[in-house]
Amino acid sequence: MADVTLRNVTKQFGSVSVIKGVDFSIADGEFCVFVGPSGCGKSTLLRMVAGLEEISSGELKIGGKDMTHVGPSDRGVAMVFQSYALYPHMTVADNIGFGLRMTGHDKAEIEKRMQRAAKMLQLEPLLARKPSQLSGGQRQRVAIGRAIVRNPEVFLFDEPLSNLDAALRVQMRTEISTLHQDLKATMIYVTHDQVEAMTMADKIVVLSAGSIEQIGSPLELYHRPNNLFVAGFIGSPK
Ligand code: ADP
Ligand code: MG
Repeated sequence: MADVTLRNVTKQFGSVSVIKGVDFSIADGEFCVFVGPSGCGKSTLLRMVAGLEEISSGELKIGGKDMTHVGPSDRGVAMVFQSYALYPHMTVADNIGFGLRMTGHDKAEIEKRMQRAAKMLQLEPLLARKPSQLSGGQRQRVAIGRAIVRNPEVFLFDEPLSNLDAALRVQMRTEISTLHQDLKATMIYVTHDQVEAMTMADKIVVLSAGSIEQIGSPLELYHRPNNLFVAGFIGSPK
């Protein structure tokens, strides 16, 4: 079980308060989207769940365990970033398996997990290529593959599609939703794109200036927005 719970979580950078006491729970297997305008704190909140950023105060639980001060590699989470940061000199296969080699998994296990991820992401014909020989969408699939091989209970995505063109974004949205159904993992997905939020989410957390404006399903937010900010920010439901 990998439910995620935040209790009164805050973040200050110096004297600047960036996250101002947020509370919410994400159920095991849920697809939760953080949405809000640029600079509202989405990445900071996600990075705190990942353990890449210290929580200033409050509490974080994953799967019922207190993770507030646990290191990023011991939280059972894997993050997919907007910039793919693939290793240019390595093949697709080696890029996908890289993290597992670093953590000392044996060759056969790495190969098995790599092949499984490649199959899920339709990367099998491309395993011998280098990143420079891939399209933007294929590169982003490799980045997702690197997360899958770690068998995380929670996937964290920070605007993974914002470097892709519009048509490819639509296709990758569908692929990530399919992946969510196949893996049955908890996923937290950050975007500033309302359409992405409305079409992909089970639950949406609407953020503004470091605070939660509203939490709900796409339909709830659409039909019963708490305020004008939410109403203005949310588009139409799927
Ligand atoms: P979003 O992802 O929603 O665009 P961020 O979480 O990146 O927003 O940033 C929220 C606020 O925190 C912004 O005002 C940003 O400038 C500030 N911020 C983010 N990271 C740092 C940092 N390491 N040091 C100081 N301020 C930061
Ligand atoms: Mg961001």
